[in-house]
Amino acid sequence: MPFRRTRICKAKLPIISKTIVNIADLEIEFQKKKVRNINLRIAKDGKIIASASQKTKFEDVQKFIILKSNWLREKRQEIKERTIVNKTSINLLKTEKILFLGKEYDVKFIMAKSSKVEVSEDLANIYCKENATLEQKLAIIEKFYRQELEKLISQFIDRYSSLMNLMVSGFGIKKMKTRWGSCNIRKKFIWINLELSKKPIICLESLVVHEMTHLLEVKHNRRFYNLMEHFMPNWREGDKLLKGL
Ligand SMILES: [Zn+2]
Repeated sequence: MPFRRTRICKAKLPIISKTIVNIADLEIEFQKKKVRNINLRIAKDGKIIASASQKTKFEDVQKFIILKSNWLREKRQEIKERTIVNKTSINLLKTEKILFLGKEYDVKFIMAKSSKVEVSEDLANIYCKENATLEQKLAIIEKFYRQELEKLISQFIDRYSSLMNLMVSGFGIKKMKTRWGSCNIRKKFIWINLELSKKPIICLESLVVHEMTHLLEVKHNRRFYNLMEHFMPNWREGDKLLKGL
């Protein structure tokens, strides 16, 4: 049987039937259509869709999905990460909202000579030039995220350095695809993911404490978590929120 996978199903053939199946620990929407081959694709929301003709044996579909299961997992992860990273632009375009410290704000654009963002109650006022493009607007928001994150990180580092009796040489903020933060133990330098500006503040606090704890204990062992518990008893709350993504 000739197997072929296509990422985008261009021909909009009518779906004869649709069922949800579980193959190789993956939830798959299985569609029967008048197609010649077994097709696999991943939708923007991460849903895996397989389609085959009515004549195709389900056994063959199963075999094909098992064969492609690693590829499907990797691709789905990629799509998920891409979606997280692009959330700001999607929100801004579709709903005119931005996320800041775990809260959604309606966006209002205000014409101004110099750009800035002001947040109050449920509203984010974005000051920008009259003909600002979407990219320019996003850059203004990103700058705001960075500035706010910088202030908060410095405060947390100050507070916990004295509590933990250690020194951090500095910190940086950058976009990371797979991690929320990292720590250069030799240089005593901490990196924080810019995306944390969109999460509740407890996520940022627990992450800063996590990275600082690495200066006392390199490994994620019992001692590490005992130290976390000692310095920030509610660290799990932030951790859970981050893992829930
Ligand atoms: Zn760690």
